[in-house]
Amino acid sequence: MSKPPKNKNLRLRLLSYFVIAYMLVAFSWWSVLLFTKNRDAFYAKRDLMRIGMIAKHLIHTDEEFLETAEYEQLAARYRRQEWMIFGEAAVFVVSLIIGVYLINRGYNKEMKASEQRRNFLLSITHELKSPIASIKLVLETFLKRDLTKDQTTKFTKNALKDTERLNNLVTDLLLSAKLETAYQPHFEPLNLVELTEDLIAKLSTKHLKANFIFEKNDEIPTIQADKMGLTSVALNLLENAVKYGDTQPEITTTLSLKNNKIIWKVADNGIGIPDKEKENVFEKFYRVGSEETRTTKGTGLGLYIVKEILEAHGGTIRVADNLLRGTKFTIEMPVNIQSS
Ligand code: ADP
Repeated sequence: MSKPPKNKNLRLRLLSYFVIAYMLVAFSWWSVLLFTKNRDAFYAKRDLMRIGMIAKHLIHTDEEFLETAEYEQLAARYRRQEWMIFGEAAVFVVSLIIGVYLINRGYNKEMKASEQRRNFLLSITHELKSPIASIKLVLETFLKRDLTKDQTTKFTKNALKDTERLNNLVTDLLLSAKLETAYQPHFEPLNLVELTEDLIAKLSTKHLKANFIFEKNDEIPTIQADKMGLTSVALNLLENAVKYGDTQPEITTTLSLKNNKIIWKVADNGIGIPDKEKENVFEKFYRVGSEETRTTKGTGLGLYIVKEILEAHGGTIRVADNLLRGTKFTIEMPVNIQSS
């Protein structure tokens, strides 16, 4: 895939900075000019007025002139004009600074969005193509070769894994599209302890190297919640904890109660998330790093789905560093969920 036109964008950005800098310099120059011309005009008017008054014998000294009402009027108008020029200049400079800030923010947003689109395309292409290619290969092998029972079982298992991967991807894509428009949680009585234990039991058989620890610190009441939705939340967090975990993943899940809220934590001993990425990881299609160098599979949809489902339950999720190493996700959910 070709690189985005970063150089062109940079050139445009530099050009707009140059134009803005030119405008600032030109405007400052015009302001100074206006200032000095205004002052010169004031001095000229003042001198004319003084000579006129002396000629008419209305005043005799400079001190007398400075006390006349006419001079005070002239001086007051000059000061007003000075303030006007100053005010206009300040408004212009402030508007320009706000403009530059907005352009910069828009530019950064656009760059981020285009990077995300690019990441999405790369990861989706890979996530779609590789399981399809491997299933195709298995089927072709079945056609062309006589295989032993063991070989057939092994190939079929691999193909099934790939279909599961495809299925998960399609489910995630559909769910994320639904979350944007038509997600309505289906509320039913739900026991979070059972849900977590069931998932951990399943995942322990799938990821044999991982050590799942589950701690329940309080009596957790049954809540009204969307079972499918919260299963997806827990599954995403636990699968991520394995995927971005240590070679010997140790994943601790805790459930507790605080101020009538359920606190649900998933902590791992993995690679962690850099501070500046912590907010971003909940954005749709966002993945830390670049798609070209990344080795882990994924689409950047998981945490977006997690956040949206929790919000529909009136809950929140935040991420922090785990005590020694890795990442800790903390979910807070009201015990009496009001759908939002
Ligand atoms: P995916 O896993 O498909 O990339 P997610 O939305 O689940 O998408 O996660 C977004 C990004 O957040 C991941 O690409 C990864 O960089 C980071 N991330 C998520 N969970 C963890 C974790 N437990 N440890 C370290 N990084 C994580």
